[in-house]
Amino acid sequence: MTPLAESLIRRIGATGPITIAEYMTDCLLHPEHGYYSTRDPFGAGGDFTTAPEISQMFGELIGLALAQAWLDQGAPTPFTLAELGPGRGTLMADLLRATRDVPGFHAAARVHLVEASPTLRERQKQTLETYEITWCGSADNLPDAPLFLIANEFFDALPIRQFVRDEGGWRERQVALIDGQLALALSTPAPIAELDHRLGDTRPGDLVETCAPARAVMQAIASRVAGHGGAALVIDYGDWRSLGDTLQALRGHQSENPLASPGDADLTAHVDFEALAKAATGLAHTAMTPQGVFLERLGITPRAQALARNLQGKALEAHIAAHRRLTHPDEMGSLFKTIAFHSTETSAPPGLQG
Ligand code: SAH
Repeated sequence: MTPLAESLIRRIGATGPITIAEYMTDCLLHPEHGYYSTRDPFGAGGDFTTAPEISQMFGELIGLALAQAWLDQGAPTPFTLAELGPGRGTLMADLLRATRDVPGFHAAARVHLVEASPTLRERQKQTLETYEITWCGSADNLPDAPLFLIANEFFDALPIRQFVRDEGGWRERQVALIDGQLALALSTPAPIAELDHRLGDTRPGDLVETCAPARAVMQAIASRVAGHGGAALVIDYGDWRSLGDTLQALRGHQSENPLASPGDADLTAHVDFEALAKAATGLAHTAMTPQGVFLERLGITPRAQALARNLQGKALEAHIAAHRRLTHPDEMGSLFKTIAFHSTETSAPPGLQG
């Protein structure tokens, strides 16, 4: 049993069942035992790999898309260049390298990383040691200024709550104790005003998910972008309107029961893009677009060909596989979706359409 499982069993034994959101928060960010607080989980030897860790092309193309959006909006100076949940800092490093020659971009950018994990902040410091960076614990702390922002696989790490529809309202899925072990249970049914709009498209027995922290982050982004300009690019797995249980645990690149090893497995849930759009008060948003389509529109194939010219043997094979992995519909190309938010007076960033 993990140390966090022991502490959760004691806590639930003393004060009763907890929500899935409370469980996820402890599993991911508990100061002593939380998954992200205690480790660097990325890469082949870790638990999962993300797009920026697969190829430098990902961060480069996102950098050029954001820089073009900045130019299209008249190159506001200064502006906040922000990333939410930057992991190892790889995407930001590739983004900054690729935009070095965009006139004025680096001089105007105030780079802000929103990161909760002290371990990963250290890692980001190493990756980005030649740049001046400000770290924030929350999107609420970002400056009140034009904001150009990227969030890749950030929203899926935010804690969700789960509700099962019942004749008498909604029953919340909770983590409880059965025979002294962590187990899922349902609360007594109650009406939930926030879920009234789901009464039309669900039936008794259906499960829906909500993510209050995602709403708060989107509101923080929206107030800055609507007031001062900018654009926010969100890339994640998920869909337009969530339905069904999407909570999943990954350990050593294998999926497992989310209750099996709290604190030792990554926990995520699919992102509800409709909920993000609803929370982005006053902003326009593009169509939700498959990652593969987005990267092709930004020119990943010519970039891949240019990089391939200097590669041979195993390195060339790995590069070709990485291009495929990012874009092919059977790999990350369709599962991952992209959406951009921007002010109603500006056009969509490159690669995405309204
Ligand atoms: N974007 C990176 C990492 C994705 S993993 C990549 O693509 O490789 C999720 C990241 O979000 C980690 O850096 C994690 O520590 C951070 N994170 C998770 N929950 C957070 C929260 N509530 N606030 C800030 N950062 C958070």
